[in-house]
Amino acid sequence: MIPSILPTYNRASLNFVKGEGSWLVEADGRRFLDLGSGIAVNALGHAHPALVKALTDQANALWHVSNLYQIPQQQALADKLVEHSFADTVFFTNSGTEACELAVKMARKYWYEKGRPDRTEIVAFEGSFHGRSSAGIAAAGSEKMTKGFGPLLPGFTHLQWGDHDALRAAVTDKTAAVLIEPVQGEGGIRPLPDQCLKGLRDLCDQTGALLILDEVQCGMGRTGRLFAHEWAGITPDIVMVAKGIGGGFPLGAVLATEDAASGMTAGTHGSTYGGNPLACAVGCAVMDHVADKDFLAEVNRKAGVLRQKLEGLVASHPDVFEAVRGSGLMLGLKCRAANTDVVKAGYDAQLIVVPAADNVVRLLPPLTLSDDEIAEALTRLEQAAAALEKQPA
Ligand SMILES: *Cc1c(COP(=O)(O)O)cnc(C)c1O
Repeated sequence: MIPSILPTYNRASLNFVKGEGSWLVEADGRRFLDLGSGIAVNALGHAHPALVKALTDQANALWHVSNLYQIPQQQALADKLVEHSFADTVFFTNSGTEACELAVKMARKYWYEKGRPDRTEIVAFEGSFHGRSSAGIAAAGSEKMTKGFGPLLPGFTHLQWGDHDALRAAVTDKTAAVLIEPVQGEGGIRPLPDQCLKGLRDLCDQTGALLILDEVQCGMGRTGRLFAHEWAGITPDIVMVAKGIGGGFPLGAVLATEDAASGMTAGTHGSTYGGNPLACAVGCAVMDHVADKDFLAEVNRKAGVLRQKLEGLVASHPDVFEAVRGSGLMLGLKCRAANTDVVKAGYDAQLIVVPAADNVVRLLPPLTLSDDEIAEALTRLEQAAAALEKQPA
């Protein structure tokens, strides 16, 4: 018999009933150190007092009004995002995949309005993840996500990372946009080298194609800059965010330059919930933390400490781990053991880490992780590694 929840997830038998900072409390009372943050969502940890206050204050005032009316919390959050980024304008969604939908629509509409309705092609990359909607799975293009769901949304090309000849051949005057994650998340924490992002920007400038960055996982302070692309010093045309921006409340956004957004006039797009007062009140509180330069300096300092300790962990457990990679507090342990076994051994050590493709285990801790918690994380990772080494191969 089919379970009452559609069985699209293989869930661990963990029942978390409470969250406190970097910790999750299981129904049986065990405390787990959370280095997953609900997959880069709980950027300020669990039950951050500023977020609880923002949400409850807003809940006491007004939950929802239609986008037919002014929404001051939405305006405030848009202003903060514009102030702290390349963007001139923002549209709010409820999720990453909806941000992908709009990013693709915006790029195509841009060319349509420029009198080039034939410029519809989107160049995307192998190993990427852009969500589960029709545009998202067409953009990622992997067999795992698309099989059986055809006919797929047409107009997407997929290239291997690092194949510069294929890239130059693929980005033509039929290309509406190039879509890429500055750091692949689901794909196994693969940071795109800064020179490659610069090269992509140049290629887009030469051909006119728009550059869309998917910062749903790597944005909002995760890499130690508010947006990951800042490390490369480039300006994108469109950026998708979600996950961390709501700190656990469903919220996403598309950030764009005035030019890239020029096709999106009144009536061309909409969302019932996107930019809802509750979500935006929380989003404002998140932004007040993650856009702060002292907060970001701390993320970078802690990322350095964690990374150095992880290098030591890898060196002392060469049968379990192969390498550390990533950027800021978006780190991956490339495993020699099966990554799923490492995740399970983590559970036994009361530690939450998340698997990714390419046999990687992801560490996406709350950006508020303390130094003591970093030390505790290492103790628990050592414990997990030691347990795996004891198992007969
Ligand atoms: C999670 C994710 C998405 C999809 O976000 P949802 O909110 O699950 O729709 C898109 N892109 C990237 C890079 C992601 O990590």
